[in-house]
Amino acid sequence: MTGDPQDLRRRLIKTAAERVIAHAEELTALDRAIGDGDHGINMKRGLDAVLADLDNLAAKPLGEGLKAAGMHLVTKVGGASGPLYGTLFMSLGKGLADIPDRARLASAFRSAVDAVKARGKSDFGMKTMLDVLGPAADALEAGGDGLAAILRQRAAAAAAATGPMQAIRGRASFLGERSKGHVDPGARSSQLFIEAVCDAIEGRT
Ligand code: ADP
Ligand code: MG
Repeated sequence: MTGDPQDLRRRLIKTAAERVIAHAEELTALDRAIGDGDHGINMKRGLDAVLADLDNLAAKPLGEGLKAAGMHLVTKVGGASGPLYGTLFMSLGKGLADIPDRARLASAFRSAVDAVKARGKSDFGMKTMLDVLGPAADALEAGGDGLAAILRQRAAAAAAATGPMQAIRGRASFLGERSKGHVDPGARSSQLFIEAVCDAIEGRT
């Protein structure tokens, strides 16, 4: 990763926030099928606050910027996803100083995924965002050539794989068997975040 770190931080945050906002209607439609139809609205509310604070966030070292972005999500998002994504970004921020190498990012991301599990009292296989975040943590740890392409592919496959699962956490769990047959909204938003970060790191944005 080369170039001005502030410019990279800005592109990372902006690309990720704008990508999820651009898919807000799709996320809300997914949540309408197995939840209360607000996931896109929730994410947009929190991420609009992140974008409004973009100059300030990008001026900070990456870890501090991520912590502050996580705080926006915790305070602005009403739904379950706010505290959970807030925990993910705040924990990631704690583990990172500034733009990290792969190994450092992998260990900070693993800790952040563990923090989401603890916050949500949840684990993999429960049809949540964790079913995309977990495979992404595995891919980051494994590393290798073409990591961004691997991450995109794993995240897409993992989000799709939540379709047939039965939800065991979150509102979708109230549907029992009827939660099967729909992709989990939080899994899809996690896929979008991962794709956006890969695009920003590869300079596609
Ligand atoms: P709410 O369910 O409060 O309406 P959202 O619709 O914004 O909140 O977010 C729902 C998403 O949050 C789900 O699709 C799921 O991925 C995630 N989620 C909900 N509860 C948990 C949990 N306990 N652990 C992990 N993720 C969860
Ligand atoms: Mg909802």
